[in-house]
Amino acid sequence: MNNKFFDEFKKLCNILQKSIEKCPWVKSINTKIMLNEASSEIKEIEEALSKNDIDNLEEEIGDLIYDSLLLLKIAERDYKISSDKVIKRVVSKISNRKPWLFWEKNTSYEEAAKIWKERKTAEKKLGENID
Ligand code: MG
Repeated sequence: MNNKFFDEFKKLCNILQKSIEKCPWVKSINTKIMLNEASSEIKEIEEALSKNDIDNLEEEIGDLIYDSLLLLKIAERDYKISSDKVIKRVVSKISNRKPWLFWEKNTSYEEAAKIWKERKTAEKKLGENID
């Protein structure tokens, strides 16, 4: 990820916030509708892949990212969850399950799979993240 990515991502976050505040369509929908929208985008990604249409793939992945983040903002609005906490949770989960990302040495597929499984099992025992 480079600075250009983060610049564009900031613009997207701004659009998301404005969508929550000013878009009549977004005001009228809920998380269930948003999930259906996201599901449609996944199907469109599958279609683009099946046609090997890379330009369309690029578009549809963007649509899914937008829908996923809009789902987050709608859930924040409707269920008073914290976007910050959602991001912090996933960062914590992936950091815990993929410690090799932060190691100097390379990790084999087998070792990574073993660690992932062990950490996931440990999390379940603690009653934390199940997925
Ligand atoms: Mg689309």
